[in-house]
Amino acid sequence: MTAAHRPGESPLRIPAPPMPPAIEAIFTTPPARASRTPEAPPVQAPAPVTITIDGIEVSVPSGVTILDAARAQGLDLPTLCYLENLAPVNVCRICVVEVTGSRVLVPACSRKVEAGMEIQTESERVRHSRKLVLEFLGSSVDLSLAGEREPDGDLARWAERYGADASRFGPPSEPAAAGVRDAHEPGHHHAPEGAEAAFATSIAQPVKVDNELYVRDYSKCILCYKCVEACGEDAQNTFAIAVAGRGFDARISTEWATPLPESACVYCGNCIGVCPTGALMFKSEHDMREAGTWDGSAQTVTETICPYCGVGCVLDLHVQDNTIVKVTSPMDSSVTEGHLCIKGRFGFEFTNERRRG
Ligand code: SF4
Ligand code: SF4
Repeated sequence: MTAAHRPGESPLRIPAPPMPPAIEAIFTTPPARASRTPEAPPVQAPAPVTITIDGIEVSVPSGVTILDAARAQGLDLPTLCYLENLAPVNVCRICVVEVTGSRVLVPACSRKVEAGMEIQTESERVRHSRKLVLEFLGSSVDLSLAGEREPDGDLARWAERYGADASRFGPPSEPAAAGVRDAHEPGHHHAPEGAEAAFATSIAQPVKVDNELYVRDYSKCILCYKCVEACGEDAQNTFAIAVAGRGFDARISTEWATPLPESACVYCGNCIGVCPTGALMFKSEHDMREAGTWDGSAQTVTETICPYCGVGCVLDLHVQDNTIVKVTSPMDSSVTEGHLCIKGRFGFEFTNERRRG
């Protein structure tokens, strides 16, 4: 990819995070691969198309998304529901950009580039839209851990960039009692009382702790669908969770809101691995946070191979005080792409018990 010209650095051209290998590969001509059959044609690099991003003409491979093209230019487009190893679902609307000739703002994460496309990634309309998305989320969801979570998630940075002020919607309403939001049915809304208008409607509710492996704190859920995708056909193909309800009552749920041990969940923890807000969390982490002993700055991460079978999944062991407190897998691992099974994800407690004697 080449930029035709680049006038002085704009303050919005913030150095983007390193490009994931999967995307970087699209922007470099792949080496000719050995074909399985002698007559198979060699793999061709996609033909380039010329587009304009923020007034700069660039040449990009056809078939890439606007997000890929923008990030390759060093642009720092915010995303919440997007993840390189999941299919885009276009639900958070924070990556939207303005495309000349398009009536509505378009999601950069899924819209493919077209020859001659004129794109604005930081127009007034784009910035206003992103600001409102961040304010609506901030007024109804507990985003206190969103800035800490990998792989994306620096909501505070984006809120500052777009001047989002969730407090202008008023203080949050009282938390719902356990199970109340789970019982809401589509179309059955209560008439609001006058006093409620003084409060921002909140999804606050008690944490669901119904098993020894992970907890679900849906007060922190931004409905990004990543867990649904990871539990479904993008990784695990278990389909234990989905979105129930409609509108403000929409929430992530097991079938009939049944507790996890009675659901189809197989405890792979792939939903935890992709959750950007801490709504899904290892019980070990949850308990340590409750006790005030969780200290991310005191933790080390050691890469190793899962000891349980011959697949060879890459594990990142997060260790604090000589104790494994959680296990993740790197998204750029060609073996796991960040996903694990129950043994690799949760089967570490025996090491802690042996150490304790
Ligand atoms: S742990 Fe695995 S099976 Fe269970 S809900 Fe999460 S992704 Fe689905
Ligand atoms: S639980 Fe986490 S991953 Fe699932 S929709 Fe909510 S924020 Fe997204």
